[in-house]
Amino acid sequence: MKTFCGRANPTTGAVEWVEEDENYDYHQEIARSRYADMLHDKDRNTKYYQGIRAAVSRVKGRGEKAIVLDIGTGTGLLSMMAAAAGADFCYAIEVFKPMANAAVKIVEKNGFRDKIKVINKHSTEVTVGPDGDMHCRANILVTELFDTELIGEGALPTYEHAHKYLVQEGCEAVPHRATVYVQLVESKRMWSWNKLFPVRVEAEDGEKIIVSPSEMEKCPGVPSVCDIQLNQMPSSDFTILSDVVTMFSVDFSKPVRSASTCYRVQLEPVKSGKAQIVLSWWDIDMDPSGTINCTMAPYWVKPASAFQWRDHWMQCVYFLPHEEPVLQGEQLYLTACRDQYSLWYKLQKAREEENKADVRVESPVCRCQAHLLWNRPRFGQLNDQNRTCQYVKSLMKVLKADSVCLCVSDGSLLPVLAHYLGAEQVLYFFMYATFVFFFFKFFKANNLEDKIKVIEARPELLTSSHLEDKKISVLVGEPFFTTSLLPWHNLYFWYARTALSPHLSTNVTILPQAASLHMMIVEFQDLWRIRSPCGICEGFDVGTMDDMIQNSLNFRESKEAEPHPLWEYPCKSLSDPQEVLTFDFRETVPPHGLSTEGSVNLLRKGKSHGAVLWMEYHLTAGISVSTGLTHISNEKGNCEWNPHCKQAVYFFSPVIESQTLSEFPTAVKYAINFDTKTGEIAMDFKL
Ligand code: SAH
Repeated sequence: MKTFCGRANPTTGAVEWVEEDENYDYHQEIARSRYADMLHDKDRNTKYYQGIRAAVSRVKGRGEKAIVLDIGTGTGLLSMMAAAAGADFCYAIEVFKPMANAAVKIVEKNGFRDKIKVINKHSTEVTVGPDGDMHCRANILVTELFDTELIGEGALPTYEHAHKYLVQEGCEAVPHRATVYVQLVESKRMWSWNKLFPVRVEAEDGEKIIVSPSEMEKCPGVPSVCDIQLNQMPSSDFTILSDVVTMFSVDFSKPVRSASTCYRVQLEPVKSGKAQIVLSWWDIDMDPSGTINCTMAPYWVKPASAFQWRDHWMQCVYFLPHEEPVLQGEQLYLTACRDQYSLWYKLQKAREEENKADVRVESPVCRCQAHLLWNRPRFGQLNDQNRTCQYVKSLMKVLKADSVCLCVSDGSLLPVLAHYLGAEQVLYFFMYATFVFFFFKFFKANNLEDKIKVIEARPELLTSSHLEDKKISVLVGEPFFTTSLLPWHNLYFWYARTALSPHLSTNVTILPQAASLHMMIVEFQDLWRIRSPCGICEGFDVGTMDDMIQNSLNFRESKEAEPHPLWEYPCKSLSDPQEVLTFDFRETVPPHGLSTEGSVNLLRKGKSHGAVLWMEYHLTAGISVSTGLTHISNEKGNCEWNPHCKQAVYFFSPVIESQTLSEFPTAVKYAINFDTKTGEIAMDFKL
């Protein structure tokens, strides 16, 4: 079987499908998987163990044999817990082949070969009977198939099938039940991830306001979950409008129905405000009485002592289809609808409710196209008025009345800014024809239909007839491209600028005129866990998993950085931020690579978990925008990051927590190389 892996090519701005051969070992999937994070989740692991012990002893207490079905066994952890708790036999099902292989090794190493049978199948393919995968139905159902949204990884259809075909009626289930909680809030910050606010432009002839088409205001957006580390959202960034309400529960010990359905609860706002967002999280009870509870509740809902950092389960932000003013004490109905894999919400006033018997809500489909063009961080970025101001200021410096301005950036508002700031002619490149339609509507809403010319071509295919035989005098970009994964992938702007060289006037202005790559050594509060070996988990040796991840990291990923939005992952700086490479957009991309090496001093004591890298764009002399570090508090080294961008994190290998104070290095040596042929940056660090 052939496997295709998508990789962005920063030299063309496109995603290319790389064909991996039969022996492709899923290195990237393993290296970047969440298994390590789950194994470090002490709270989850201890509670599963308690719940499994209790379930096994209840079954044994009834004088029955304890036969366990563990769906999605991963490392085999939960099956080993069951075997250690006295289960007679465990069927450990795992669909992902490399994991099933690892589970076999781990089970063997821990001495449970006779008690646990690993089956490399999807649970819905598992057979029961004398010649089947399982000899009989199980009476204990153990699973951990949940994502941040609870059901996004297909837990419901898997449970539905398991109850029909794989477990006995009246079986025990660990977890026994899951409950989804919601809280209604108003939050300008989170709402800015979903709607485009009016953009203010201070032009010479007065203030201009860029508005969005009316369809956009009413559009319910896309159904994909917005999962974030809500614990990093300061309470000043939202206003609570309701108490925490139980939305629905699922009892996993009974037959589960996965068919689409709705749940409705009554709400009374505790405060008047604009209902915009439903925050949501879940908890699982490991036993029927609910005494063993594992919760994802955010900081303002639960005591700090119950806090466990984890990245595999976070919290959800749901955007209501449109904002709704609500009054303290009025009667509201909140409806959660779900299909098999996702959830969405609708808020209704009690008054309207009386007339409407059926409250079925359609799955949200973006009708305005903006939600397909802009993802949530991108909405946030476009709504960042300070950022817009930097572009306005720099455009004002470079634009002249006779400027012919071409913009190269995906889904950008720069052409509109350039028009308002006086460019004679504004041209806008589109690489994706699908979005031309959206921009026509957008320009129309702002009466700009005939002011901005849209060119559907790739930069290298631009001809002088596209430009009506004019030369480009101002080439602008944010730069921003939807295919960029790592910060430097937006250097595609440089490649586009190079391809456009024949069309640029001799005294062309390029904005940004340059970019620079910055780097800083950090100690993460928690993020290190996702790349840290686990060793022993709840008494079980899972070293095989650590080795497998390390092997995959060594294969390719270890020399690569990975993108993380660091506003969600606190860290402290151990070094000063350092500019390591610069890219001069006024020149074309050089044929040779750009490289640098040096040493960075560590100023603070701490564990050097890795280096963070980000880009800064120098728009014009004296005006820059940073996509990374925005502030650093000097005493402790706490960092603030651009909340709309992902930064690149290069984890030092191996990421270990056992460094002792005496071992702290005083400097880190680095070698960084930008390969102009591939657009990728390779790096190497020595502590
Ligand atoms: N049980 C382990 C791993 C949980 S991760 C632990 O708790 O540490 C969930 C695993 O379930 C993944 O490895 C995924 O590949 C697997 N999986 C999900 N749905 C499945 C299904 N229906 N049948 C078999 N495996 C499944």
